[in-house]
Amino acid sequence: MSERGQRGMPYRSWVEISRAQIAANFQAVRAVVGESVEIMPVVKADAYRHGAVEVSRTLVKEGARWLAVSNTEEGCALREAGIQARILVMADFLPYTRDALIEHELTPVIHSLEGLREFDRLAAARATRLRYHLKIDTGMGRLGVPCSEAAAIGEAILNARNIELEGLMTHFASAGNYQSTQTDEQVAAFDTLLAGLNRAGIFPSLVHLSSTIPVAYGRKQAWRGMIRPGHAIYGYVSPARGHAPAPILHVKPALTWRASVLAVKDIDTGSLVGYGGMFRTQRPTRLAVLAVGYADGIPHRLSNRGSVIVNGKLAPIVGAVSMDLTSVDVTDCPPVEAGDAVTLLGSEGRASIDAQQIAKWAGTISYSVLCGIHARVKRLYV
Ligand SMILES: *Cc1c(COP(=O)(O)O)cnc(C)c1O
Repeated sequence: MSERGQRGMPYRSWVEISRAQIAANFQAVRAVVGESVEIMPVVKADAYRHGAVEVSRTLVKEGARWLAVSNTEEGCALREAGIQARILVMADFLPYTRDALIEHELTPVIHSLEGLREFDRLAAARATRLRYHLKIDTGMGRLGVPCSEAAAIGEAILNARNIELEGLMTHFASAGNYQSTQTDEQVAAFDTLLAGLNRAGIFPSLVHLSSTIPVAYGRKQAWRGMIRPGHAIYGYVSPARGHAPAPILHVKPALTWRASVLAVKDIDTGSLVGYGGMFRTQRPTRLAVLAVGYADGIPHRLSNRGSVIVNGKLAPIVGAVSMDLTSVDVTDCPPVEAGDAVTLLGSEGRASIDAQQIAKWAGTISYSVLCGIHARVKRLYV
């Protein structure tokens, strides 16, 4: 920190990611579920923009044997970076990605019986035995074999002689909503289906249903042998609705997002600020113009809403968020100059803003705030 305030950086905007906090969050999950539950951290979407390669390296060092990504390309990138853990590809099996998937020893989630037969043909043609996880749609209404096809599932699994069912999974639609019975219904549907498979002599060695929320709120009957936390690894647990039990998982954000001040200027009462003259000053105002905008991932909905932290104090965003620039009112903040750094997401002293808070201001969800941080925002590991 310089004498006058926050340390500057030669970047317009950057994120600082704490490997130690990623590790601590993984260990916090480990402490909650115990040693007998396999933790498969979800590092899709470039690890919620925390950087999939660095995050994966950290997690593997902490003992993660599995990682989950969305598509084959994400899995290949991890392999090319030397990651040797098992990698589950959760939401891709487009025909043109299959060779790469097999060559990089990625494990697919299969979502349909036709997909299962196709994967079997692929394995037969290569004369190799391939493992897969099968996703059941227990009520999410998205990817997965619908429970209504239960009768055909066992037969399809048994007929696919060149491939091996390693995992059986489902995904919850309303895990955080304790006013809804949907999660209980999904668990029950899953168990009915699994019992049917067991009667047919099918015993997948890995059964997994839970993302962050069922872990964080202690829905133990959904943990089984494996869990798939994403949000928690990055330090977030979304608030639950209804009569939720107190969370049993405590994690902290691993990412801090900062930006440089480009200019500071004093303007008169009654001046308009930014596109559309959306803001009119009510007093002599000191503005700081930040080198960050919606092209970097600041939600445009933060125009005239929300704040950033300037030298430990909240400074409101004034006027429209522009593509590359955002103006904040620093009249009440300790002195700030061009070249200083401000905090968009993170803590300075007692002031703190997390993705949950930004999401509230912007009318979106914290996942979207994190994933919205653009690739042009420089990433530093601390
Ligand atoms: C993204 C995802 C997860 C992780 O969810 P979080 O809420 O971030 O923990 C788990 N499972 C599936 C199928 C997902 O798509």
